Amino acid sequence: MTQTLPLDSTYCQQWRNGKWKTISVIDALIQKDKPVRCHECHGAIVLMSEAHNGTTRAHAEHRPSFNGCRLSYRFDENPRKNPNPVLPPKKLDASDSDWNSAEINAAVFAYLEMLGLEKQGKPFKKTSYYRKLAEKYNRTQKAFEYRMQNISYILSLMGKDWIEGLKPAKNVGTKVGEQIEHFINKYEKVDRPLVVAYEIKAKEAAKKQAKTPPKGNSTPEKNNSTVTQYKRDPEVKGWVLRNSKGQCENCDSPPPFFNVDNEPFLEVHHVKKLADKGSDKIENAIALCPNCHREFHYGKNKSELVQKIYKKVTRLIPE
Ligand SMILES: [Zn+2]
Ligand SMILES: [Zn+2]
Ligand SMILES: [Zn+2]
Repeated sequence: MTQTLPLDSTYCQQWRNGKWKTISVIDALIQKDKPVRCHECHGAIVLMSEAHNGTTRAHAEHRPSFNGCRLSYRFDENPRKNPNPVLPPKKLDASDSDWNSAEINAAVFAYLEMLGLEKQGKPFKKTSYYRKLAEKYNRTQKAFEYRMQNISYILSLMGKDWIEGLKPAKNVGTKVGEQIEHFINKYEKVDRPLVVAYEIKAKEAAKKQAKTPPKGNSTPEKNNSTVTQYKRDPEVKGWVLRNSKGQCENCDSPPPFFNVDNEPFLEVHHVKKLADKGSDKIENAIALCPNCHREFHYGKNKSELVQKIYKKVTRLIPE
């Protein structure tokens, strides 16, 4: 509590746009539905309008009464904290949109700390992490637990380890997913190519039956970043994966494992590499099992592989 607040019961605090604002009772009465509290002791108050005959000004009265507040007309000269302060309204959980970046940052920080402890074989209590975050950010512990599962999911998309007991939950939007990725990279102090938004969009694209195949891009742009990365079209990746029906387009076998979404793990490879000015189009992209994918990059017969795949997969157009 700062000393600059007017010691005056014609002022109060009202919950406005996510914070307590000290305003005049007259202004607070304009938005009657918003929670109010005493700006001095933070206890419950009732707002009283100005009397019609002008004898009393609009003011706040302590109800239930509290003798420990200097603003109460029953003040007992012994100032103390109100034992029952009015708390901000509980936020709705589970919706992405109202999570601000400070909350996501704090969740990622706590998550990586737990992951570090787990890797060192040290004990930790997930619930005490959730409790601290829930108190600080006025959300339920459950909301933070769910957010942690989203972080597991983002780590899985990045090909990284996640905490054993936090099953990846994929219900996370592109925007929050990107923020989680950003904070992970920040804490790990690495400048790696961003993949999360692209992967989430590609998964969405793989689920839908496209009326026409995506056009893609003949000359994908480079991102301005210290790491070279091309702006790939998630629609192209999604279409190629869906079209493969879960089989490697080179060896025709199902992939050796499933990802956390329980989808067959296939990778999309550009036959003429983007770095060699290949296009990001379905005519230049194939779904491969990890074995074949490595072979297309590192195999001693890789140029023969390319010639064979052009014959085998008829949608491909040599570039
Ligand atoms: Zn008070
Ligand atoms: Zn294969
Ligand atoms: Zn590749």
